[in-house]
Amino acid sequence: MGLENAFGQVIEYYSRRSTPEPANGNLETKPRASQWPSNSRGNSIRSVSKKRARLNRQRAQATKAAREVDNTCHIKSPVCTGYFDAFHEVIKCSANGAIVPGSEKAKAQGQVFIRSCNPCNGYIEDNVAWAKENGYAKSRFEQDNHAD
Ligand SMILES: [Zn+2]
Repeated sequence: MGLENAFGQVIEYYSRRSTPEPANGNLETKPRASQWPSNSRGNSIRSVSKKRARLNRQRAQATKAAREVDNTCHIKSPVCTGYFDAFHEVIKCSANGAIVPGSEKAKAQGQVFIRSCNPCNGYIEDNVAWAKENGYAKSRFEQDNHAD
């Protein structure tokens, strides 16, 4: 190539590829909407993700409103900071638990939202038996699995 300037690295990179790249080929390194985000198995979950994005916005609004009423953590685990960071859901998201306080889904499944600090949320994940004893987590067998 004979180019030994700051762009040499880029040209060298593309020259190694078997198919030629367009001049703006570096834009291709950004994920395309149809490819992102994907789950751990690499499958596209775009439709779920769009729904989830909407739910996340609703959740954020509900959390903000709730924080204005009471900004303290109600879990009070041994690692508690005392501040309400995010809601903890008794029915886990992975068990199809609703994530938006006050939503129809939450009401239908009897979801429980508890004001929690981030350390307490982590503590619950790490101490399942403790969480169950204190009513912060339910086992799969205690849940109504008939919901959608
Ligand atoms: Zn806490």
